[in-house]
Amino acid sequence: MEEKREGRKPCLKCLLRELDERAYMEKLHRYIELLDVDVKAPKGLYEDRLAVCKTCDYLEEGTCQACGCYVELRAAVRKNRCPYKKWRQA
Ligand code: SF4
Repeated sequence: MEEKREGRKPCLKCLLRELDERAYMEKLHRYIELLDVDVKAPKGLYEDRLAVCKTCDYLEEGTCQACGCYVELRAAVRKNRCPYKKWRQA
């Protein structure tokens, strides 16, 4: 269930540290859901990539320490690559 946030507009000039963490993560997942089908990695590819990240020493709190990206966001885009070429491509 989505929390009601009366009187609060989304801030377009906030730094990450100023955002509500839960709301920010929901936005990221929504962004992934809404990626254009031509841009988005197929579900199987996406899950394979994340499975690789889960075993990788560079993964820390959802972020790849090699490239600085949120791995779920990076893996969701078909053309993106792992900086160490650990992912298979579409
Ligand atoms: S993107 Fe590559 S280097 Fe980064 S955490 Fe995933 S597998 Fe590891």
